[in-house]
Amino acid sequence: MSNFTRFENKVWLATPTMHGDEMKYIQQAYETNWMSTVGENINEVERIAAEKAEMKYAVGLSCCTAALHLAVKHAGESLYGKPAVSHGALEGKRVFCSDMTFDATLNPVVYEGGIPVFIDTEESSWNMDPLALEKAFEMYPDVKLVVSAELYGFPGRMDLIKQICQKHGALLIEDAAEAMGATIHGKQCGSFGDYSAISYNGNKIITGSSGGCLLTNDLEVANKARKWSTQARENAPWYQHEEVGYNYRMSNVIASVVRGQYPYLEEHIAQKKAIYERYKEGFRDLPVQMNPITDGTEPNYWLSCMIIDKEYMCKQVRDDSTALFVKVSGKTCPTEILEKLAEYNAEGRPIWKPMHMQPMYRMHEFVTREGSGRCRTNAYIEGRVTDVGADIFDRGLCLPSDNKMTEWEQDGVIEIVKSCFK
Ligand SMILES: *Cc1c(COP(=O)(O)O)cnc(C)c1O
Repeated sequence: MSNFTRFENKVWLATPTMHGDEMKYIQQAYETNWMSTVGENINEVERIAAEKAEMKYAVGLSCCTAALHLAVKHAGESLYGKPAVSHGALEGKRVFCSDMTFDATLNPVVYEGGIPVFIDTEESSWNMDPLALEKAFEMYPDVKLVVSAELYGFPGRMDLIKQICQKHGALLIEDAAEAMGATIHGKQCGSFGDYSAISYNGNKIITGSSGGCLLTNDLEVANKARKWSTQARENAPWYQHEEVGYNYRMSNVIASVVRGQYPYLEEHIAQKKAIYERYKEGFRDLPVQMNPITDGTEPNYWLSCMIIDKEYMCKQVRDDSTALFVKVSGKTCPTEILEKLAEYNAEGRPIWKPMHMQPMYRMHEFVTREGSGRCRTNAYIEGRVTDVGADIFDRGLCLPSDNKMTEWEQDGVIEIVKSCFK
């Protein structure tokens, strides 16, 4: 880089962007003393979230992970019956889960005693591979629950995944934490699952600093989730309990922020889209691809990611905590690019490390298009990709995608990436 050695202000991956209305609603909550887990802002967030996602009901919760937990628990109880008090609702049951995702997608399966079986990623969409899911149903026809996430705001074939679930009589939990506002054939992400979850975590497309919603078309699910999220009190004059409860309800203060953010969702998406397109243009002459856009989908462009063409990868090895690479002229790898970005005070990130490669899940089953994989450590066998998740993790990375990044800063990032191919 010729014109500077380091960004003075850090260029972030994704940070919150406030607009002013948030403060107005916080002020209202404060002045009326609704500093609680009840209040008008929560009601409004639930109304807007349901309307936006084209679902009948939304339940405001402390985070998306809580929404996924209540969804998993409800699915488990409706499929397998109510467990004993100290047992999970999925005790010993296999559940098909996205493999290349944040672990929050499937941790709740484990909270409820379920056994995640990881479904490989589709090369053309970076999301759960419908063909691998079909294969998994061939291998385990008794599985009745699928948890599938949309990655980085670029949805894959969730519509097909839904059809496959219906064909096999399985319930679908859609983790739309990263995909709010994205669509598949014009239908909102968050509207495909029997249960769906969205997130207002600080780095998502809009935020409440934290928070999330469970979305459903089933009133019974919404009522149950609301009850469980507030310690599962029965209707009685005293604290009466028939089942285990949680303290998962959204705060009315958090809801103020979320309520103030919703009107800016489309603006944030437009900013993120412009960032993605500038990267695409800036990398035109490099041997890289941006994250794929699946036919018929409109992403929300939450994180811009890139993947290096195989022939331009220098050797890179990663163990459980460190990464090393051997620099070759004209070639690079995510480790070099991420280190270089950090040197210049810009924040990138590796692709989500696939769950089947994580120490805690190494003994779990992993299903690819070809069938059973258990844990594979090499993405290629005889030059052929057999573990798509491992391959994308190997060659891909997330780029700074903050909607407050200036064009000058983004040009700098593009130059840094280019310099790695020298
Ligand atoms: C952020 C995220 C979550 C968790 O959201 P929280 O609101 O922080 O609990 C779950 N799944 C995916 C895919 C995410 O990116």
